[in-house]
Formats: sequence, C-alpha cells, structure tokens
Amino acid sequence: MLVQRVCIIGAGISGLVTAKTFVEEGYEVLVYEKQHALGGVWEKSRRYPNVRTQTPGRMYSYPDYPLPDSYPEWPSGEQVNAYLESYANHFELLKRIQFNTEVIALKAIDNGHKGWEVTTRIFDGIVIETSCFDFVAICNGVNHIPNIPAIPGIDEFKLNGGTVLHTTEVGSTAQIEGKDVVVVGFGKSACDIAMLAVENALSCHIVFREADWKAPRFFFGFINIKHLFLTRFAESMTPKYNPNKIEKWLHSHGKLLIDVFWKLQENIMCYTFGLDVCGLVPKKPLIKAIVAKLNIAPKNFYKYIRNHKIIPHQTSITRFVEDGIELASGEKLNPHLVVFGTGFKQAIPFLEEKYRYLCLDNEGYFHLYRNLIHPEIPNLAFVGYNAGLSATLTGDIGALWLVQFLKGNIKKPATHQMIAEMEADLEWRKQNGYAGYGGTCFFSSTFHYLDTLMYDMGLPVRQIGSIAAVMQPLNSQAYSNVRTQLKNLYSSKVQDLTNKLQLQFNDYSNSR
Ligand SMILES: Cc1cc2nc3c(=O)[nH]c(=O)nc-3n(C[C@H](O)[C@H](O)[C@H](O)COP(=O)(O)OP(=O)(O)OC[C@H]3O[C@@H](n4cnc5c(N)ncnc54)[C@H](O)[C@@H]3O)c2cc1C
Repeated sequence: MLVQRVCIIGAGISGLVTAKTFVEEGYEVLVYEKQHALGGVWEKSRRYPNVRTQTPGRMYSYPDYPLPDSYPEWPSGEQVNAYLESYANHFELLKRIQFNTEVIALKAIDNGHKGWEVTTRIFDGIVIETSCFDFVAICNGVNHIPNIPAIPGIDEFKLNGGTVLHTTEVGSTAQIEGKDVVVVGFGKSACDIAMLAVENALSCHIVFREADWKAPRFFFGFINIKHLFLTRFAESMTPKYNPNKIEKWLHSHGKLLIDVFWKLQENIMCYTFGLDVCGLVPKKPLIKAIVAKLNIAPKNFYKYIRNHKIIPHQTSITRFVEDGIELASGEKLNPHLVVFGTGFKQAIPFLEEKYRYLCLDNEGYFHLYRNLIHPEIPNLAFVGYNAGLSATLTGDIGALWLVQFLKGNIKKPATHQMIAEMEADLEWRKQNGYAGYGGTCFFSSTFHYLDTLMYDMGLPVRQIGSIAAVMQPLNSQAYSNVRTQLKNLYSSKVQDLTNKLQLQFNDYSNSR
C-alpha cells in the first residue's frame, strides 16, 4: 500500500521528531495534540516549578538541532519547552499541528491494510470528527496519564477540606505555601516536590514503600555523573539481551570486575549522601535498580532528611481519614495537602480493542518489535515507547528507522520471526529488571538499542572503536549525520538498481 497521509498522535518530544522525519521524506503529515500547546511533559500546564532534566549535557537534544550553548548542564523545564518550540518553528512543524484535539478512537480500515480511521474530539466546541490516514504513529507519551493509587477514604479527606494532587498538578508554589504537606513516592518528581515543600510549606513528610538509589549530579563534587554512568563502558557493566563478545566475557569471566564496579558506586553514594545515617540504604543492589531508571538526587535532599526538614516514612498509606492519612506503620499524619509522585499509567485507550490487546497485555507490558511496531498490525507505529538515556535521541533514530522500514529499506524478517524476537526480548527484560514502564524504558541499554536500529538501517554504530570513544558520555551529536548517510546509502542502492536494470535492458536489446 502506498502511504501518503500520516497521522501523528501527540506533540511532545516524540511526536515532533516523528512529524519532522516524515515531512522531510515527503509525506503529508497531521499531528493531533490534545493540549493547547506543544511540549508534552515539558509544557507549562504539566510541569511543576523548578523541574529540570535528569539527563545532563548536550544529551537531551535532537542530533541535528543542538541545545543553545547558553543552556546549563541540566536545563530547566521552561528551557526544554522553549527548545522544543524553537525546533518546531525551525522545521516549520506548527502548521502541521492541530491543538486542542484529542484522538478518542483509532479504528483499522481493512485490518489496518488500508490505514486507519481516526476520530477526534475538539475541546472548545466539543466537536467530534473522523478522518482517514494511511499510517498512524502513536506518540502519546508513557508519562502522560497521572497515576494516583486507589486508597480508601480520599473523598472523605477532600470533603473535609484536604487537597490531593498529582505532581503534574502542582503548577505553582502558592499551592504548597503555609501547608503541612505529605509527598507520596521516592522517584524524581516526588523528591522534587518534597524540595519545594521544604522551601515553601509548614512541614514536609515523604511516604514511600522502598528507598531507591539516587545519584549525585557530581561525584566527589566534581565528576559529572555522565562520565561514570552514561557511557558505553558503564552500559557494558549491566547485563544485555544479545550481548557482544566483550559483554559476554564481562558477565561471565569478568563478573568480579562488575561486582566491584557497582559496589564501589554504591559505597560512594552511601558516603556522599550519608544514607546509613538517613536509614535509607536501598535493599536492591544498584545494578538491579539502574537498568530501568536512575534518579538524580535534588541538591540537599538527603541533607534535609538528616536535618529532619523532610521526614521520611518507609511504609505505605492504608487509608485516608477525615483529617489525614493512616500509615501501615501505625503512624497517623495530618496534612492539608497530599501530593502523589506515584508515576504514570501507560495506556492506549483510543486504540481499537483487538489491536490494543495485541500491543498491551493484561500485566501492562507492551509487545513491540524494536519498541516501535507490532509485526501483526500494519501501518501503525509507536514512538516514545523506547525511552533510554535521551528521549530526543531514541525518538529521532526510532522515527528514522520507521521511515526506512516503511520504504522497504530495512530487511524485514518474516512476521513470525519478528514476533519470536519481540517476545524473547521482552521476556529477557522482565527477568532482568529492564521492563520498567511496561517494558518501554531501558535506561542502561541505550547504546545497545541505538546500535540495533543503526545495524538494521545498514549504518555504522557510533561511539565505539577506541577506549576514548567507549568512555565518552552518550552524545546526541554523534548521530547528526545519520540522515545524510541514509540518503547516500539508499540513493546509491537505487542508482545501483537502475544501472543493473539498464544493463539487463541493454543485454536484452543486444541479444535481439
Ligand atoms: C518530570 C519529568 C522529567 C523527565 N526528565 C527526563 C530526562 O531528563 N531525560 C529523559 O530522557 N526523559 C525524561 N523524562 C521522560 C519524558 O517523558 C521524555 O523525555 C519525553 O519528554 C517524552 O516525550 P513524548 O513525546 O514521548 O511524551 P509526552 O511528553 O508525554 O508527550 C505526549 C503528548 O501526547 C499528547 N497526547 C496524549 N494522548 C493524546 C491523545 N489521545 N490525543 C492527542 N494528543 C495526545 C499529550 O498531550 C502530550 O503532549 C522526564 C519525565 C518527567 C515527567
């Protein structure tokens, strides 16, 4: 089927780069975005005050559009959003985006072989519309539906004047000022909100089930985390699906080296933050925690815990009561405000049921080949379900892979082979702790994942070949010429084919 009209759902990091990639290949693109502005998690209405990236350096940028030099090592949410706006302006994407338009249904035409019928709801007028597209890329974000656990008594607490929010609903410090605050969770957003509470609220308690490892931005005050954790070398210290020869050796004969490497990092973190004193040494070894995610500790977070400005409770909430919350530890807290930093739900509610069940199982795992497509669903793709160290980079290379796949430039294995590979990969990740966010996040497999996509596209892998290269932090700009290389590679293949056909034709003419 000739694909011409492409629909993209979402105008966050993934949707923008997918739109740009399809536009530059000559496709007719329309992006539906349910918010009134682009940026996804970085858009003003969704970000809390003082939010910054976790990814340092120039890593959190598109390969062919670097972050402004004036940006700090960890840009603020506002800066990331401004960067995304400037990207959309530069590549003339704004005219392709229909804002305030939520996709509410995605129905296959002839089992997807003839494309998709997309139903949208336009907010202002509550207008429902349906349009048909040859191809749909779902870029709705794995961090976009706030998750608040169902805990009994919430309504009673609210009726009595208490407030319950998700971190994405904290838009200003005024919501916190002068209140007794309880933050639930121990991830990035939860700890960031606890820091806001220390500075603005009457009191701050943090309730969480298990302490997790958090890294400092600078080890010993001067070694940037990117040099320790965000290199190909560090990545080889974690287990891999389909490891290369060196990784195989490391994880068998070199196991001692690996254990020492991670134990050393654990000790540094314990020492830097005084985790023993805080009573917050995580139970899980760092190597198990780091494969799916790594949180950076906000500056002074553990210091505030040691000074009792943030009071930790390693337990869970059993129920809300009229004037507060009861904890499984038997304690009772009386906050005015409870903020849930309990993450997001990963869902594709608009996708026709039979296809949704193929992609997303009952346990919440996504079944996607290369984290980009389902082999049995034609003309449908997912971008942003492949998050690693840098969503901008994996989104960019993922979108390029898709276009090449669609154009037939990637050797396509048989459907049953892709399914077998996809299932084996997911099963391995589940066994090895890489299956965070429904299997869509593989923090310490980023190089490996990018290598696979580059290999599929017939291009050389990056940042390898010398000790200096493998010790270098992931560098988005190392991928800046991928588009040019693809053009050269496939235009020369077309040229070869044309020459061959010409030769065959000449042979045929001569023989007559
Ligand atoms: C606080 C925070 C900090 C983070 N820091 C980092 C970091 O440092 N490094 C990193 O790599 N990642 C980080 N992330 C992860 C982040 O989610 C990704 O980096 C990236 O922004 C995801 O982009 P996305 O486009 O895939 O999804 P999103 O940014 O969630 O965008 C999805 C878009 O789709 C729209 N949408 C959803 N459903 C529909 C629908 N039905 N119809 C129309 N539109 C729809 C949404 O409104 C949204 O605009 C962070 C996340 C959070 C929450």
